[in-house]
Amino acid sequence: MYIGCHLSVAKGYEKMALDALSIGANVFQFFSRNPRGSSSKAIDLKDVEKMKAILKENNFGPILAHAPYILNLASFNDNTYGMSKSILKVDYEMLNSISIPYFNFHPGNHMGKGIDYGIQRIADALNEIITGNENTMILLETMSGKGTEIGKSFEEIKSIIDRVKYNELIGVCIDTCHVYSAGYDIVNDLEGVIDEFDDKIGLNRLKAVHINDSMMEFNSHKDRHATIGEGTIGLNAIENVINHPALRKLPFYLETPNDLNGHRKEIELLKGLYDEH
Ligand code: FE
Ligand code: FE
Ligand code: ZN
Repeated sequence: MYIGCHLSVAKGYEKMALDALSIGANVFQFFSRNPRGSSSKAIDLKDVEKMKAILKENNFGPILAHAPYILNLASFNDNTYGMSKSILKVDYEMLNSISIPYFNFHPGNHMGKGIDYGIQRIADALNEIITGNENTMILLETMSGKGTEIGKSFEEIKSIIDRVKYNELIGVCIDTCHVYSAGYDIVNDLEGVIDEFDDKIGLNRLKAVHINDSMMEFNSHKDRHATIGEGTIGLNAIENVINHPALRKLPFYLETPNDLNGHRKEIELLKGLYDEH
């Protein structure tokens, strides 16, 4: 199975690969820049090459970059919108240049302007950014639906995809904590949720899973991650998710509140629950 966690890029690319190896991971996620600030450092290509050598030698799965949280591609405020677009564009170009396969982002918040308005803003931004010549795929993350968040339903995700010209470069990342909070009952009806995803979006679009437990109850529209087995989703449901025929080959990235050693234990736990066949 492909399993790993979110790692800090602060000490460089090779360090992430070494950290991943040290905890038994064979994939990982990192922020394309400082998650809250907007500064980006020039990329050290030697460091990237060192990372890639480690990934190749150890048969890693696809590495996922996550856009900073401060972006809002659905904003009506032209400053916020412009800043969000330029960060997404710069980071997308950088990730393409170093051949990172996936770039995940939170679709955005419409701030009262309405879902349709927000969806159009997001699609317009993506149409400015994607030229069709890229190799890095952009992933839309499913959201819990707090406040005016877009992406809480499969329909919303699909309508963003439909409005993007080069949408062969758009995929989806399911976050188990977020979908459960959004009202998709992966605990009692995983099969139904997957069928609905296939129906509304198409399973061919599903490229990655953020594997998190949740501190909040079902359908709460709140976003608080819990460590695996310690939340409202629970170990049993998580076991079903990682083994489901439609999901089991996908890369799983933990975003649980844990340090490296805690993630090592979670990875060990999930590997133990994964049905090797
Ligand atoms: Fe996220
Ligand atoms: Fe997530
Ligand atoms: Zn979250």
